[in-house]
Amino acid sequence: MAEKCLRCGKRRGNRYCPVLAGPICSRCCGENRLVKISCPSTCSHLLRHEAFQRDKQGSRYHEVWLKVNEDLRGREADLKLIIALEYLLKRVAEGVEGLTDADVEVALAELTARVGPIELVTQAPSLLGRLLWEELAPQLEEGRLLREPLKEGLTRLAKMVASLREPEVPRAFLRGLFAHLEELLPEEKQQEQSGLIVTPSDLRRLI
Ligand SMILES: [Zn+2]
Ligand SMILES: [Zn+2]
Repeated sequence: MAEKCLRCGKRRGNRYCPVLAGPICSRCCGENRLVKISCPSTCSHLLRHEAFQRDKQGSRYHEVWLKVNEDLRGREADLKLIIALEYLLKRVAEGVEGLTDADVEVALAELTARVGPIELVTQAPSLLGRLLWEELAPQLEEGRLLREPLKEGLTRLAKMVASLREPEVPRAFLRGLFAHLEELLPEEKQQEQSGLIVTPSDLRRLI
């Protein structure tokens, strides 16, 4: 006879829950996971769920990416710039604790204002905005990055943030960005990628 779920006592417990040390039904596992049950990071149901969420966020991001940037087909330099900006954003964002999509939105608006035509800095920039500008400004000064394409790239990123933002999920865009880039490139290769360089194979993987 099948054992009953230790949580609800009604449905069949078809999973083993390490916290309850016994059977749990899939519904109770899903509803209580990390909410009322503090799952250990080794729980296989938790891991599978997280992998699933990551895939979902990554594909949603990819969908929006294609929609916002479909007109860039064949414009390799502009495509490379977008990807480079995404890597830069990921690298910098990972170093700032508690960052939300709202912060990204603010930072992108600040950068767009700074890129010109006249460098408008009306108030103290946000932390993320300042960190990103510190990376971008030298490239602009050295002429490795041009103002107009950069501005366009920032606008495209802002559009993606706007489409991916969810009122209930403060990091919907950021999680999608991370999942997407991690899928695109394994962790070790991202280190080399953090400069504003994108290889043709990155492009092929993306489009
Ligand atoms: Zn149950
Ligand atoms: Zn669990």
